Amino acid sequence: MSKVIVIGAGGVGTVVVHKLAQNATVFTEILLASRTKSKCGAIAADVKKRYNVEIKTAAVDADNVPELVKLFNEFQPKLVINVALPYQDLTIMTACLESGVNYLDTANYEPKDKAHFEYSWQWAYQEKFKKAGLTAILGCGFDPGVTSVFTAFAAKHYFDEMHYLDIVDCNAGNHGKAFATNFNPEINIREITQEGKFWENGQWHTTLPLSIHKELNYPEIGAKDSYLLYHEELESLVKNFPTLKRARFWMTFGQEYLTHLRVIQNIGMSRIDEIEYNGQKIVPIQFLKAVLPNPQELGENYTGWTSIGCRIRGVKEGKPTTFYIYNNCSHEAAFHETGTQAVSYTTGVPAMTGAYMFLTGKWSGAGVYNVEQFDPDPFLEKLAQSGLPYKFEVNGDLEF
Ligand code: NDP
Repeated sequence: MSKVIVIGAGGVGTVVVHKLAQNATVFTEILLASRTKSKCGAIAADVKKRYNVEIKTAAVDADNVPELVKLFNEFQPKLVINVALPYQDLTIMTACLESGVNYLDTANYEPKDKAHFEYSWQWAYQEKFKKAGLTAILGCGFDPGVTSVFTAFAAKHYFDEMHYLDIVDCNAGNHGKAFATNFNPEINIREITQEGKFWENGQWHTTLPLSIHKELNYPEIGAKDSYLLYHEELESLVKNFPTLKRARFWMTFGQEYLTHLRVIQNIGMSRIDEIEYNGQKIVPIQFLKAVLPNPQELGENYTGWTSIGCRIRGVKEGKPTTFYIYNNCSHEAAFHETGTQAVSYTTGVPAMTGAYMFLTGKWSGAGVYNVEQFDPDPFLEKLAQSGLPYKFEVNGDLEF
């Protein structure tokens, strides 16, 4: 039925391509393009072996708009799934507009020279996409993505007004390494070393990085120390659900991880500015990425689960109501199916699901959308069929 281009042959790109191949009646022609063509070839060979589906491959520099436009015009896809890095969001959106192609991503734009992310840069494309009759779907991974859809599902079925939202993200897995990040180390370390931020009573409140934490209980996992972070879906959720009085995001970290992170920061290895080394300019965090374990290769020895969900309080028919919706995902099962760990898996499966919603006409509209603006029901149904089932509890104890 439809041609799609996937940009980015990393951990998430691997899962996206596997899942597209499992739905080959909808995604009839698939092209995987990335900076390093050999990485695309390795993924294509694995997919061919598992599903006997051909994946075309190409080299592209996604920082270069004319190069992207040339690729899009040659292949003529209906949709581009961007799972490269957040730095490439705007160039890929610009190229989509020039070539008349729809767009989907999993992370909001971030400039390379400043560790700061917000939706304003991508929301600024609203009129252009509308005028062109094209759709841009933003933040369709797990968080942002499924957490945003979970919130929309709660609003649609379980609340007249939502007041308090806590997004809780637990990785209770063990990869056996002293220190590794679960997705691109550069993007991950930039994200978690920023100031924390949460929404309360109509304004943002900032906190020192990782300075607020509490023990939270995760289903079938138990108690884990969870840290308040700023996460991008909070920005669109408080805008799209204005009855929220407070919205926060929590993520679990082990003490070993935090100790390594502190050392990395203290010795300057998380710096994002250029330094001179042996007559060459290098960016320390990019050098660090080159020596850290590749998140794409953590899967083989990864055991345990992730558990990500939304805990919401509000009112339904005048009565105080609580709602907890979550997914638990096994690292081993993710590796068995796609050769990657659960963090890549829980990002790639929703990206395929969003693409599936769009190409089957269940999500539509010209303009730039965050995923909570679409109907959550068909998405969650397809997500569950695709390896990420959800559970929920109404009026349980939310610990907050
Ligand atoms: P990886 O670093 O594993 O993969 C990124 C891929 O993009 C690599 O193949 C890389 O190429 C390619 N790439 C980078 N720059 C360019 C460029 N200029 N042109 C072409 N290709 C390029 O990252 P992940 O797979 O871990 O993450 C992918 C995305 O998913 C990120 O944006 C991340 O923020 C997002 N994410 C979202 C989550 C969510 O739940 N919403 C959770 C986890 C991740 P090369 O191999 O040559 O370096």
